[in-house]
Amino acid sequence: MLNGAVDYREIILKQREEKPIMGWKGTVLDYLKMAKDNPEITSIATARMYNAILKYGVNSVSNDRKIIGYDDLVTYEAFKDKIYGTEEPLHDLMKFLKAGAFRTETGKRILLLVGPPSSGKSSCVYYLKRILEQDDTPKYVIDGCPIHEEPLNMIPMEDRPYWESALGVKIDGQPCPACQFRLQTPIGTVDKQGNDLGGLLDPETGHPRWEDMPVVQFKFSEHLRNGIGVFQPSDKISQNESELIGRINLSKAARFGDNDPRAYLFDGALEVANGGMLDFIELLKSDERLLYLLITVAQEKLIKSPGGAFPQIYIDSFLVGHTNLTEYEKFISRKENEALHDRIYVIKWPLNLRVSDEVNIYRKLIRESEFKDIHVSPHALEIAAKFAVITRLKPSTRCSSLIEKMKLYNDEVVSDFKKEEVDIKSIRKEGRDEDEGMSGISPRYIMNALNIALGTKENKKCINPMDIIRSLNYCAEHHIGVSPEEKSKYVELLKDNIVGEYKETALKEVQLAFFNAYEPQAQALFENYMRNAEAFCRGEKLIDESSGEQSAPDEKLMRSIEELAGVPLNSKREFRNGLFVHKAAALERGEEFNFKTFLVLKEAIEKNLLGTLKNVVSLTLTDPIKSLDDKTKRRKENVIDNLIDRGYCKSCAEALINFVADILRRQG
Ligand SMILES: [Zn+2]
Ligand SMILES: [Zn+2]
Repeated sequence: MLNGAVDYREIILKQREEKPIMGWKGTVLDYLKMAKDNPEITSIATARMYNAILKYGVNSVSNDRKIIGYDDLVTYEAFKDKIYGTEEPLHDLMKFLKAGAFRTETGKRILLLVGPPSSGKSSCVYYLKRILEQDDTPKYVIDGCPIHEEPLNMIPMEDRPYWESALGVKIDGQPCPACQFRLQTPIGTVDKQGNDLGGLLDPETGHPRWEDMPVVQFKFSEHLRNGIGVFQPSDKISQNESELIGRINLSKAARFGDNDPRAYLFDGALEVANGGMLDFIELLKSDERLLYLLITVAQEKLIKSPGGAFPQIYIDSFLVGHTNLTEYEKFISRKENEALHDRIYVIKWPLNLRVSDEVNIYRKLIRESEFKDIHVSPHALEIAAKFAVITRLKPSTRCSSLIEKMKLYNDEVVSDFKKEEVDIKSIRKEGRDEDEGMSGISPRYIMNALNIALGTKENKKCINPMDIIRSLNYCAEHHIGVSPEEKSKYVELLKDNIVGEYKETALKEVQLAFFNAYEPQAQALFENYMRNAEAFCRGEKLIDESSGEQSAPDEKLMRSIEELAGVPLNSKREFRNGLFVHKAAALERGEEFNFKTFLVLKEAIEKNLLGTLKNVVSLTLTDPIKSLDDKTKRRKENVIDNLIDRGYCKSCAEALINFVADILRRQG
């Protein structure tokens, strides 16, 4: 059918053509040959997941991002633009999967992700499932097996040493009761209705022809309950292990007898999850019985029903649970749970602590929401992110304030030029040891505040930082689940830190907008400074190119910039010498050394330039008489145009100007 110029059928056919062919059918014998060619198809669950993630690729991480104990930290392309600010937990997760893939004791535990709501742990599990569903390493299972098991499980124990070495794989599993039943049923046996039972026992030799067991290609699907199980414990009293391991169908048991696998329903979450993964929501809310069941599956890969009525079943699955910090702390404080502690592999999953990542989280949430068409003013999300992050931080004696710590974590320059001497790694480590990020407000809370801000001014189609600050204040007062102590802490952080931060940003924004030719001027000032500093360091005089006149380095000029960079007078020589080390290093890397290269200097130069403009800005924006004359009006319009060029809309540009005018008026 034609739709305009596009032939949709053609597109569909092309899309299908690009997909691998599904639905392969054969026997265990055929499968042995495939396994020889590509042993990866026989991978155990953790190894399959591990490789599926690695296939997307990894990226290296700069050294100062690595906290102590994470020297091998990398980021995983598989989660890029999906979850943010969770490099360490993801790395922990990969370590666990690797341990599982290598069949070590560590990998035989239940993985438990512990973190506050919306810290990204559930998102991570969500993406793990998608990664498994989309993995291109094919998976094959026994056709008709209720737990879609690995074909190699059919190989008799005594013959396995040969096959393991011939195929170069390890074979752990046992045939499930249903497959076992087929192996022990004579070929051609029919039931009372005349249906072939699929028996494989050769009546002449008395041995099963396991190699003839049918095999089929398998596709992981959470939706179809194929290899991806989800389990959420219902209330404690009604928690029933059958939800996890399946049950006996009583009417069928009456017909076939208790021990006949045809009387069993293998529809528990663990059986669904065989070969893939089990997502265990609120793991620690489940009954202890279920926990022990699960631990046996992790440890021995066997379902062992406590009552013994249900048969043992071999299950290979990546078991991942999640829970919040409160439940976790309750769990570890209970003495009777001690035996369980070292059977669980805990990964702490804190809220993100980097402002830039936090902004990305909101962007993603906004993209996915109904508000995607609303204009979000520059710095609006950043202000919200700063507030969110600061509520999650723990004070440190090594930082002068939470704001400073927040900036350090965000790789920003702090006013002190000695930034490089600050040991960020040990500050991060200290924070981690104190469970930093395990409390504080969540992205969901911020989204709620954004929604409220948008709701109150939907007709303007724009949301600016002041709207957000107002809304955050409102939410601190009205958010359910915020204790009075938290409430006053949040309001205080907002008032004392975030508003001040925004004032600074807003002033700078307006000043920059006044300042058209900002970059060339900054570069000129930078070059002038460097010329003087170079002459100073060499103990030489400056020579004027046109007149040939000599003069001493301009101390006043250099100090005016250094003071803005926070360089004390007695450190000026050290600072100036240091610049040339930076310059040499930049040139060695093949980079240009301009006013943007060295952030401390860049900020100081900006401040210097903007300082000279402050009077102009102040006059244009606040003088009541001048605001009427044409020249001033034009200048104001110009500023708005500049702001629009830099991502503002008319509404938030005006709001910004009014806000700044108000600040300047108060300053007098
Ligand atoms: Zn089976
Ligand atoms: Zn706007």
